[in-house]
Amino acid sequence: MIQYRANGVTVFQSALYQTTSTVVETPSCVFIVDPSWLPQEVDDIRTFVIKIRKGRPLYLLFTHSDWDHILGYKAFPEAITIGSSEFVNHPEKQSRVDQILAFDSQYYLTRDYEIVYPCIDRVIQNEKQRFVLDDTLVTFYKAPGHTICGLFAIIEPLGVFIAGDYLSDVEFPYIEDSSEAYEKTLHKVDDILESHSINLLVPGHGNSTTQITEIHFRKQRSLEYIKMLRTYVQNNNHNKITHMLDEYPFSSGMRHYHENNELLIKKELSMSVGT
Ligand SMILES: [Zn+2]
Repeated sequence: MIQYRANGVTVFQSALYQTTSTVVETPSCVFIVDPSWLPQEVDDIRTFVIKIRKGRPLYLLFTHSDWDHILGYKAFPEAITIGSSEFVNHPEKQSRVDQILAFDSQYYLTRDYEIVYPCIDRVIQNEKQRFVLDDTLVTFYKAPGHTICGLFAIIEPLGVFIAGDYLSDVEFPYIEDSSEAYEKTLHKVDDILESHSINLLVPGHGNSTTQITEIHFRKQRSLEYIKMLRTYVQNNNHNKITHMLDEYPFSSGMRHYHENNELLIKKELSMSVGT
C-alpha cells in the first residue's frame, strides 16, 4: 500500500503497525529506507524498485536496528547499505535476528531471501556526516533514545526528513535506550528545520506530513509525554500514568511499551539518586 507519492518519494505503509518503508529517487541514485514487513509487502517494494531504478546506484538505509526495520535486508543484495556505527557495534544482533525468525515462524511466513543482521558498507560515525553523490546530499544526525543506534537522514534537494521511530502521529515515544537521549534527539529537530528546507517528514510508523507546524506539534507532544511520565513516576501517580494513553488510537496494544517506558524511567531516576 502506498501512503504517499510525489516528487520522486514513495512511502509504502505496511498493514502491520503502520510501518513505513520509503523509496527516494534522485537523478543520481535511489534510496530505500527500512524495507518491511510481510513477505508480499517487501516483494512489492522490490518490484517497484526494479521498475524505477533505471541503472542508478541503489542505497539501503537503516534508521535503526529494531527487527521490524531490518528484516528486508537480503531482499536487496545489490544495494549499498548505510547505518550508524552504533548499528554496526550493536550488542544484540543475534536477538534481532531471532525476533524476525520467531515472528515468521509464528505466522507461518516464508521469504525468498535470507534473514541476517545487516552488514553496513557506509558507516555513519559522526554527527552531521554527509553523503554526496552528484547533486544528491544526505545529512545524517545521530538519533539515540528510542534505540542507541538511531539515525535521522535529510535527503536534499528534495527536503525529505527520514525520522526512524521518532515524530510519529500514532505512537508516543518508545524509549528503549534513554529518556534523556530521546529528549536531546527531539531537540535536534529545531536545528534540522532551521538548517534544511524540509518538504516532507517520514516517521517509521504512522503518517508522513508536509506541514512544518505538524512536525513541531509531534516534537512537542513527544517531549511532553516524557516529561509527564517522569513527573508521574517520581510522584508514584499510577492513575495518571494509566490515563496518559487515553488519547492514543491503539492504546491497549501499546500499553506494554508504556509500561516499559515507566520501568526504564524508574530505573533512570533511581540511578540519578544513587550518584
Ligand atoms: Zn519500529
